[in-house]
Amino acid sequence: MQNFSFQNTTKIIFGKETEKEVGKYTAQHGYKVLVHYGGGSIKKYGTYTKVINSLEKAGIDYVELGGVEPNPKLSLVQAGIELARKEKIDFILAVGGGSVIDSAKAISVGYFYDGDVWDFFEAEAKITEALPIGVVLTIPAAGSESSGSSVITKLDGMYKRSIGSNLIRPKFAILNPELTFTLPNYQTACGAVDIMAHIMERYFTNTEDVELTDRLAESALKTIIKNTPKVLANNEDYAARAEIMWTGTIAHNGLLGTGREEDWASHGIEHELSGIYDVAHGAGLAVIFPAWMNYVYQHDLERFAQFAHRVWDIEPDFKDLEQTAYQGIKKTKEFFSSIGMPVSLKELEIPEDRLEEMAQKATENGEIGSFVNLDTKAVLEIYQNALD
Ligand code: NAP
Ligand code: FE
Repeated sequence: MQNFSFQNTTKIIFGKETEKEVGKYTAQHGYKVLVHYGGGSIKKYGTYTKVINSLEKAGIDYVELGGVEPNPKLSLVQAGIELARKEKIDFILAVGGGSVIDSAKAISVGYFYDGDVWDFFEAEAKITEALPIGVVLTIPAAGSESSGSSVITKLDGMYKRSIGSNLIRPKFAILNPELTFTLPNYQTACGAVDIMAHIMERYFTNTEDVELTDRLAESALKTIIKNTPKVLANNEDYAARAEIMWTGTIAHNGLLGTGREEDWASHGIEHELSGIYDVAHGAGLAVIFPAWMNYVYQHDLERFAQFAHRVWDIEPDFKDLEQTAYQGIKKTKEFFSSIGMPVSLKELEIPEDRLEEMAQKATENGEIGSFVNLDTKAVLEIYQNALD
């Protein structure tokens, strides 16, 4: 195990009707709030009214900015920064999923910066200050509710890039599984894949002697594998929704990466897809992750065989670890398919013509990954393997 420091300061408020307490928690951090949300699901399903009522009851002054799109765009972030300055905002409340939360985080760092907020995403500026943020989560997926990162798309050039800092970790996150009953099955499945990817980007590591985090990761994966089909069959299965929602946070709050090297190549490779083709992040990962696994698994057959055995209950064949390892990858892909996710670029309707451009962009700052380092040629091969 490697040395590490771990601190996650996001307060989690979990359970039925907890969104009605948002005013109380918000009042601990701010007086003038920007309520940030997406394309309208919170209004359609009543969450907006409950949140606003709670803020008003707590005597909080607010302005609002809706319209965050999935794969959130820089232009709305820039509009949000202007609005927040004009209204002298001191707190941002994100009501929605990863896209809304990430947009709120970008506004929170841009607020204090004189230049273009995109500078942070190009690593040309360092985050030193950020407005505090709170979250009412409506979809378990990105884990952004307690992560220190934000992913934003700049349409000019189709760049999807991320920033990371403890300063943008939300102060609190309210998680009521009931709010996720209204998710379309496609979004539920995209969320499940993203959660699994966050766990697996940490699981496939070169660090040795990481038994605790291996075991935690395996049970987190098993929890998603068991509960996702349940909620797809019954959207209002509270118990299963609750398991998924809490796993989504644990998957990306930093705990599962303690003491070990993480990888993140699959996320980087996927971001080029959602940056250019605007596909849902989880759907892109369902295509890329198995293709990445097929490319790298020979590097550590034992680890992949352990994954196959402990996560997918495949009896290990000690005389043929490669076969066991391969079965685990096959099962992962079959699971993604069984929950309605695409597992090839063809199914995503992405043509071959820009694979090289995406591979170039994914590696523009050098090799990516750490379990196996990937150069442009390797990334291109992974895209090609994902074609059908
Ligand atoms: P999302 O993009 O925030 O939302 C996806 C869709 O689900 C939206 O159309 C939204 O509609 C709808 N929706 C959300 N909650 C709903 C509900 N309760 N009922 C019905 N519809 C609902 O999804 P996400 O997967 O959470 O976020 C994806 C983004 O997060 C990507 O850009 C990805 O790259 C990023 N990400 C960030 C991190 C991080 O740590 N920061 C990690 C991984 C991924 P409305 O817009 O109408 O609300
Ligand atoms: Fe993700």
